[in-house]
Amino acid sequence: MRVTRVADSTYLLDCTEDVAFPLSEVAYILDGDPPVMIEPGSTATARQLLVHAAASPVDLRRLAYIIPTHIHVDHGGGAGYLAQHLPDAKILLHPRGARHLADPAKLAAATRGVFGDDFEERFGPILPVAEARMRVAGDNEVIHLGHRDLTVMFTPGHASHHVAIGDSLTGGVFPGEALGYIATAMPDFPLPAAVTPFDLRLYLESIDRLATMAPEVLFYSHSGVRSRPQALIRGIRENSIALGRVVEQAMGEGLDPGRIWGRLADYVRRNGGGEIPAEFAMGLSAYMAYFSARS
Ligand SMILES: [Zn+2]
Repeated sequence: MRVTRVADSTYLLDCTEDVAFPLSEVAYILDGDPPVMIEPGSTATARQLLVHAAASPVDLRRLAYIIPTHIHVDHGGGAGYLAQHLPDAKILLHPRGARHLADPAKLAAATRGVFGDDFEERFGPILPVAEARMRVAGDNEVIHLGHRDLTVMFTPGHASHHVAIGDSLTGGVFPGEALGYIATAMPDFPLPAAVTPFDLRLYLESIDRLATMAPEVLFYSHSGVRSRPQALIRGIRENSIALGRVVEQAMGEGLDPGRIWGRLADYVRRNGGGEIPAEFAMGLSAYMAYFSARS
């Protein structure tokens, strides 16, 4: 685990090298009174956070809240594991996420659908969280942490149970996947984080909502800490729409997914200057499901 101070009283705990998942696995610790964690990650990541607890900038036993931006396995799958080991921490999350973490059977089934029957070998199991250990957040709810306030913003589209977090101290936003992700080869061409069931219309509304916050810095879940937030927000908005247009038009022409992928790859090569990453195959399926449901 690598620990980096990324802003005032804000730390990134990077477990990417400790776990077997192709996207980066990071948790953020926000020191305050009390301190909190944003993005516990999977159970595999959560285990590493506890193994390396002595390196943490704050005593993890003091955490008041653990805040997954949403409950997909690589963001909130480890919440139950941490709740078991940190008895004073509550899991703060969207009401829809709370239902699924109380009884994760459906979540585990959906995870098998995306990552395969052996997902637990890579991510660890998704353990349930007792209702008494959860705090269900409201939209626009403000969490006071002494010298900083966090604002919870419902930001559906990537998932119906997605929230982003605004931070008064740094002027930053923790967007989860609401502002997409950045492939290493294309630093200026953010890609939409589309997974089925993806809702492009809601995704764009959430992007617009985060744009009005005028964040000074973005603390991504999979892409680290980025300045130039306005350019990245403009980029993710344009790219989410443009890739959708490519898919919708190709579907209208009756092309099969392989040829639609070719069109997407062409578009990204011309406009992003790089190769569309292989994992975006999930994004293509999600866009196709979205447009099929609307036609
Ligand atoms: Zn997700």
